[in-house]
Amino acid sequence: MTKIFDDDLDAEFGTRAIHAGQRPDPLSGAIMTPIYQTSTYVQEALGENKGYEYARGRNPTREALERNIAALEGVRYGFAFSSGMGAIDSIMKLVSAGDHFVVGENVYGGTFRLFDKILSRMGMTFSYVDTRDVNRIAEAMRPNTKAVLVETPTNPLMRLTDLEAAAEAAHAGGALLIVDNTFATPYFQRPFELGADIVWHSTTKYLNGHSDMVGGIVLVNDDDLAARLQFILNASGAVPGPMDAWLALRGTKTLHLRMQRHDENGRTIAAWLAEHMGETNVFYPGLPSHPQYELAARQMRGFGGMISVETGSQERAAQVLGRVRVFSLAESLGGVESLISHPASMTHASVELDRRTALGITPGLIRLSCGVEDVGDLLADLEQAIA
Ligand code: PLP
Repeated sequence: MTKIFDDDLDAEFGTRAIHAGQRPDPLSGAIMTPIYQTSTYVQEALGENKGYEYARGRNPTREALERNIAALEGVRYGFAFSSGMGAIDSIMKLVSAGDHFVVGENVYGGTFRLFDKILSRMGMTFSYVDTRDVNRIAEAMRPNTKAVLVETPTNPLMRLTDLEAAAEAAHAGGALLIVDNTFATPYFQRPFELGADIVWHSTTKYLNGHSDMVGGIVLVNDDDLAARLQFILNASGAVPGPMDAWLALRGTKTLHLRMQRHDENGRTIAAWLAEHMGETNVFYPGLPSHPQYELAARQMRGFGGMISVETGSQERAAQVLGRVRVFSLAESLGGVESLISHPASMTHASVELDRRTALGITPGLIRLSCGVEDVGDLLADLEQAIA
């Protein structure tokens, strides 16, 4: 199982982003971790090898990525998967039929679909609660609750969960706190410091940051959880190929720089939208008008580039989506380029209509992933699209 190098946690965040988990290649001294594009490793003799036997279990490129992101989250173990969904699916193999989970009601549509359409058929039960109010977590706990799962900020409504309070509620009931940290990234939010037991990401998003691979990662600090996750990773086999691991590793080298710019652009665009669309229609935790601004300021070091906007109707949403020229109409988020999407028909189409409506994912809601372009161009694009 992939454990960070002993000195990986000594440096500051930007230095870790660039160096943690990586050592010059022992063969050539190559400063960039090679792409070990191999399925197997030759053994010196029966039972004698260099620690690598078959690439589903271990691959040096993947290990560099796992160590790197573990160091960014400030913990000892990382496990890379072939997608974010592969990561949460493997986490859920830690538990068994009959177990119960308390889940934030506004988790990513794909996470909800996995729980609701697949894992519930396998005897697991889920209570979906509004985790903005941490009392709801405590109320939903049962004797067989194994974990509380939250995403903060949520996709797409940018609702927050107080992670410290959620960890207390989970632990009081003997459960783990599992956090999807995809939107905030470890640069802006450190769930382990607030009591989380497992953190996972879609590396497809900010960690890679260049929209050129799909991947996921799970981070833990606990030796026992790490051993069990390594077993699941190898036994279930949802691992990424070395090329994708390498692309994500190249991406994390600039995570701190990109996040600073996403945040700068996000704040500027959110303020502009609040002025032009009305404060209550703009969902961005960095706006003082956001109902959980105080928690955001306490729990996050920055707010990033994700903004949702209520335009009022599907027609108005379609008009904006159809007119943008710098923003591109596409699913996904977190890349250097700005994207715009329609959650009701795209990322959250797998959530049934009545549930979507109850949550506030309306036909008029659009979601912006503000990239790192020049903000003047992004504002001009939105201005002409909204006019
Ligand atoms: N978590 C969040 C917050 C997401 O937005 C997504 C994808 O959009 C996922 C998890 C799933 O990740 P992937 O698409 O890499 O499977």
